[in-house]
Amino acid sequence: MNLLIMGPPGAGKGTQAEVLVKELGIVHISTGDMFRNAIKDGTEMGMKAKEYMDKGELVPDEVVIGMVKERIGFADCENGFLLDGFPRTVEQAQALDVSLEELNIKLDGVINIVVPEEKLMARLTGRRVCKGCGASYHVIFNPPKTEAVCNSCRGELYQRSDDNEESVGTRLRAYQDKTQPLIEYYKKKGYLVNVDGDQDIDLVLKSILEAFAK
Ligand SMILES: [Zn+2]
Repeated sequence: MNLLIMGPPGAGKGTQAEVLVKELGIVHISTGDMFRNAIKDGTEMGMKAKEYMDKGELVPDEVVIGMVKERIGFADCENGFLLDGFPRTVEQAQALDVSLEELNIKLDGVINIVVPEEKLMARLTGRRVCKGCGASYHVIFNPPKTEAVCNSCRGELYQRSDDNEESVGTRLRAYQDKTQPLIEYYKKKGYLVNVDGDQDIDLVLKSILEAFAK
């Protein structure tokens, strides 16, 4: 099963990706890990990417795509893969289509985790950090034993400035604007599978598996 996963900040994409790859016995290819490993292993594309990064430049699309292509070609991807964090633009998606075609690999679907904006807002603005030790809490999902007080060091908990409603709103809109064309692209191709991310983690997983069981 060759899949791609997308979702806004706070949708639980990372958590879902982890359980999904275990369940399906496929490889999780997240762009961040892929970069680190390609550079560490000194692959051809990894070395190219490093050249740009050492100069403090953005790694161009063709190198990123080359790296994805290189990674998908590894033997461990024979059972399938879950691409996470790539593509981010329609141009990258088109280039990925070409690469997959060259590798004679077919994409089985694009999972889009959908969570209403007000829920994302609640998840993302609920984070609290300890002034003393930096421990992280969440007012709903991981509350401290005493309100606004750190469990371990009794330090005061505060909300980071980039976790406030305005910053989170900006982040969510930026994601939406950037991703909407990509969602349309995959919808047109018939790959898009919208999954309700506003439910328990195991139910989200169940919805995904059911969508691909047909
Ligand atoms: Zn603390």
